[in-house]
Amino acid sequence: MTLPKDFIEKYQRLLGNQAADFLATFEQEAVAAFRTNPLKKVQKDFSDPIANTLWGHFGKVSGKSIEHVTGLVYSQEPAAQMVAQVAAPQKGMKVLDLAAAPGGKTTHLLSYLDNTGILVSNEISKKRSKILVENVERFGATNVVVTNERPERLAKTFKDYFDLIVLDAPCSGEGMFRKDPDACQYWDKDYPAQCANLQKEVLQEAMKMLAPSGRLVYSTCTWSPEENEAVVVWLLESYPDLELLPIEKINGMVEGLDMPQVARMYPHLFEGEGQFVAHFQDKRSAPSQPQKVKSPRSNLTAEQRQLWQNFSKKYLRIDLSGLLQTFGNQLYCLPEGLPDLTGLKLARNGLHLGTFKKKRFEPSFALGLALTSDQVKQGVTLSPEDFKAYVSGNTVSISGDYQNGWYQVLAEGNGLGFAKLVNGTLKNYFPKGLRFNS
Ligand code: SAM
Repeated sequence: MTLPKDFIEKYQRLLGNQAADFLATFEQEAVAAFRTNPLKKVQKDFSDPIANTLWGHFGKVSGKSIEHVTGLVYSQEPAAQMVAQVAAPQKGMKVLDLAAAPGGKTTHLLSYLDNTGILVSNEISKKRSKILVENVERFGATNVVVTNERPERLAKTFKDYFDLIVLDAPCSGEGMFRKDPDACQYWDKDYPAQCANLQKEVLQEAMKMLAPSGRLVYSTCTWSPEENEAVVVWLLESYPDLELLPIEKINGMVEGLDMPQVARMYPHLFEGEGQFVAHFQDKRSAPSQPQKVKSPRSNLTAEQRQLWQNFSKKYLRIDLSGLLQTFGNQLYCLPEGLPDLTGLKLARNGLHLGTFKKKRFEPSFALGLALTSDQVKQGVTLSPEDFKAYVSGNTVSISGDYQNGWYQVLAEGNGLGFAKLVNGTLKNYFPKGLRFNS
């Protein structure tokens, strides 16, 4: 790979006698890895675990595999896995992932939350927010709202609200050069300083949303000190109530430059790509009373409520807790405890339950991904051959004594949406935009 001359000189200066080892890694391939998804009921044994992680494994997963399509795995290189691991939200927390697409940190945070609490996953780019929604739906969490907003607009709704905020900031992306050599093209010696200005702006908005005594995790996938330690220094000076928490250095992480609490990951020391992480604690004491929020209201008609209840009673074994809301003829379930989101651009208003059609309710693909097989009264299992036919958009013949109706589609035990079975034929409800031939 041809690296910019200024980049080489900068890291020769910064890394001294380690620079040669560091620069040599750009001739090696990027490290592939993935995480397994603890929200899925049927797990699988994967080899080559990443030490000191709960769900990480080295290796590549195919986007066409059953594991990927059912959301049992999420591809993420090992250094990026350290960000949500440092954040490690406790169950029940209200968490914000402020720059979230395509969803690596978001899905990792959801693994910790285990369908408790709330995750607001935000992405400023509309196009990228759609990919984020796809990845969140496949992961199958029930407690997440995806917004497509500018941080300053989000801050108006969520003042002092979050117990934990993760800002995986837009950055100069030096740590991604191996994965995406094109990223090199945007780099010049002034780029890190420009990125640092944007990072400070976004952090100012993040700080408006952090609840007293909350935690903030700031990360970048770059090594430039301008975007890392210098931003940390600026943040600590600007917000005297913040203090740095020490990050345990595992798997080859090293201390920051003159800053032992933060963590740097270099590819010659840590088996992965480039990453920087800082962990802050707000020292203000938590209010004795929980903050009052103006809650959103359910807006279902009596008929819609009845149709949903009929479906739920007939096909589900659980009562989904949360607030039911319709957008047009689409039904969503929002996690409880959110403020009124009116005025915000929502990419996913909670869990999409389904669609009201004339006098009937049709369950969504997302619902069939989110529920485990024991939460649904009836399911049909696809063989590996049936799986290939189904994901390419074909119907599948089901033999056996099955009544007509809705079934959760299962592959290797995990949900792949719902589909209607009519006289032994499983109609195809795999979303058109996701279909592929294998
Ligand atoms: N956290 C993501 C993950 O783990 O998959 C990766 C996030 S990426 C490093 C940074 C994101 O910040 C991009 O998706 C980009 O669209 C977004 N971004 C760019 N400008 C922004 C801004 N002004 N405010 C918030 N986010 C921004």
